[in-house]
Amino acid sequence: MKQVYLDNAATTSLRPEVIAEMIKVLSEEYGNPSSTYAVGRSARSLIEASRKSIAKQLNASSSEIIFISCGTEANNWIIRSAVRDLQIKRIITSKMEHHAVLYAAKQMQKEYDVELEFVNILPNSEIDYGHLEQLLGDEVPTLVSLMHVNNEVGTELDLKRVADLCQKHQALFHCDTVQSVGKTEIDLKEIPVDFIVASAHKFHGPKGIGFAFIRKNNVLKPMIFGGEQEKGMRAGTEAVHQVVGMAKAFEISYDKLDEEREHIQEIKKYCQSKLQEVYPDVKFNGNQTGFYNIVNVLLPMSEEKASMMLFQLDMKGIAVSRGSACQSGSQKPSHVLSEFLNETDLKKPSLRVSFSHETTREDIDILIDVLQSV
Ligand code: PLP
Repeated sequence: MKQVYLDNAATTSLRPEVIAEMIKVLSEEYGNPSSTYAVGRSARSLIEASRKSIAKQLNASSSEIIFISCGTEANNWIIRSAVRDLQIKRIITSKMEHHAVLYAAKQMQKEYDVELEFVNILPNSEIDYGHLEQLLGDEVPTLVSLMHVNNEVGTELDLKRVADLCQKHQALFHCDTVQSVGKTEIDLKEIPVDFIVASAHKFHGPKGIGFAFIRKNNVLKPMIFGGEQEKGMRAGTEAVHQVVGMAKAFEISYDKLDEEREHIQEIKKYCQSKLQEVYPDVKFNGNQTGFYNIVNVLLPMSEEKASMMLFQLDMKGIAVSRGSACQSGSQKPSHVLSEFLNETDLKKPSLRVSFSHETTREDIDILIDVLQSV
């Protein structure tokens, strides 16, 4: 049975070149990067070359890239340290953020009594930029935390617009770029964002590794204490193979970006038109443009029928997600969809289908066949 993987917003497969590079490091580079003798220095040079390559692609400086275990950790660290160490008194975020941001922000409200404000969400799933500007009008030391691409519906933030607004109002800006890094160009000289985060498993790299970009003038303090690795910001012996694998995946993602993006855009269009054929009154959740690798479809059917369909899809080797990946299995309505769908639509089942360069028209046809058979 052909496995059809259509959940690339949850995680992605490893590129063969990444696996090869990681195996090479695992078998040949066992040194501790902190050791001063040759095998240690060799491991250190791999780490630093990886940092340089990632920084160059983002038009950042190497010293602004900190390796960390994942997107969740990076988001938590930045939000916590901004409040604790940069005298932030207010966080402005949205209710559509990933829980790694939402729960971290709520925790800061509990622990440090920071003010927590939510920017309004428009019916098309975008943030209300006017409301954000209005909130920023209050002269309180503020951290704005808004995601670049929403992991459930693909709504894309105007990163430059928000970064400029934050700069104008002297607010710090943290952007959860987990879904966009490796999939779209980000020029950090051009965009005055203070912090961004990435997770390698979202761009065909290994799990358990990511990075944070911390703009030079923002001096964060560590969340965990120990060694001097990552300038003391993220203590613990570096996983050299993970770092090298991430840098390789990142490099390939950008080398092939134009060609792969074009392919994925075409697949998305194909999938949407096929869904429209099966369900003439189908609706797509989120705004019309949405990010190019995600389709979130509102299925015009009952909950029971949808549960049966998800079971069928799984039986036929098709991986798709109901709502957010992190929520799969949960029966609660998605906290993202709850923000902009009306009560009636919220009760209907929604499916998230997300693509990669490996997705083919045949994969979509298999999905559509199963949907039609239920
Ligand atoms: N932020 C967003 C937008 C995500 O989609 C995810 C993962 O689904 C995360 C953060 C968490 O990243 P990680 O899996 O690396 O902890």
